[in-house]
Amino acid sequence: MRALQFRGAGSAPEVVTVPDPEPGPGQVLLRVTAAGVCHSDLTVMSLTDDLAPFPLPLILGHEGAGTVAALGAGVIGWREGDAVAVYGAWGCGTCATCAQGKENYCPRAAGLGILSPGLGAPGAIAEYLLVDDPRHLVALGDLDPARSVPLTDAGLTPYHAIKRALPKLVPGSTAVVIGVGGLGHVAVQLLRALSPARVIALDVSEDKLALAREVGAHETLTSDTGAAAAVRGLTDGRGAQAVFDFVGAESTVAVAGAVAAVESDIVIVGLGGGRLPVGFGALPVGTTVSSTYWGARGELIEVLELARAGSVEVHVETFALAEAPLAYERLHEGKVHGRAVILP
Ligand code: NAD
Ligand code: ZN
Ligand code: ZN
Repeated sequence: MRALQFRGAGSAPEVVTVPDPEPGPGQVLLRVTAAGVCHSDLTVMSLTDDLAPFPLPLILGHEGAGTVAALGAGVIGWREGDAVAVYGAWGCGTCATCAQGKENYCPRAAGLGILSPGLGAPGAIAEYLLVDDPRHLVALGDLDPARSVPLTDAGLTPYHAIKRALPKLVPGSTAVVIGVGGLGHVAVQLLRALSPARVIALDVSEDKLALAREVGAHETLTSDTGAAAAVRGLTDGRGAQAVFDFVGAESTVAVAGAVAAVESDIVIVGLGGGRLPVGFGALPVGTTVSSTYWGARGELIEVLELARAGSVEVHVETFALAEAPLAYERLHEGKVHGRAVILP
């Protein structure tokens, strides 16, 4: 089959031909219908080979959708041809955390060598994807794979981050979204669908701010040194009850801290490496800071329900598999509006 492989630090991903995977006992083989392109892949590809957290070469793609092509021995519950999305945060499946569907926080996965597709195991930007266990599949039904596949990460990750903060987002409250890319433009919609909060979106690109307004942001601001004061100005000096940072750089976590209200939630999702000091005087009292990773299996089902209800619509740019390297180039240059999706 053809697949998009990342072969080593400093090299662009390449379309290569590799042997077709075959499902072993308990596994499911998918014919991939769509696979999303995430900024985290750029972070992974920027690491030097000795820092890469998994062996190379690696087939990229941790957002996957497909139709069931073959079932390994013993698999029940799915039939050939079923349309599915893949829950990508694979855990051990048996610990107390996984039992709650929170495989994204499985404390055993790393020790057991369990890796997510596209983040260590062969990923979804390929003609076929091997899924280790049928519990990682969620029925897509009538949802269009191209427009839904980003929901497995660009939807699920902000959903998980936002759901934790919902008790703070009462009428009259404000939510700030920093970075209106793949994740951020879904975050704005999720906030509008799930809360009465006023949504203020920040980005460095005027195009992305236009997208933020299109998908429901009440206010948009250029993300610069004046942004924190501008948010205070829009909130009678109170600041935001929840801040979601989809960049996570030194400068943006500083803005997150500076716009936080008393008793607010700051959620850092972006992998930009910024650090936010806590302790008396550093942040308003009662503020909670967390960094979150992906989301729970049940939350993916909830996000797909929101899409089915028309509450969330991912803006996608589609590419054939042969053009997948171009999708990564455009993402690297900040040119992708919404999410880039590969149609193998
Ligand atoms: P993206 O490239 O699609 O979007 C990033 C957006 O941030 C762009 O619109 C860009 O213009 C904007 N931006 C850049 N610098 C900015 C700044 N200083 N202030 C405001 N906006 C700025 O990326 P994405 O795929 O949406 O991913 C967003 C981040 O989340 C990445 O760091 C990614 O690695 C990370 N991520 C984390 C998780 C997790 O589980 N924690 C999951 C997926 C992605
Ligand atoms: Zn991702
Ligand atoms: Zn587990």
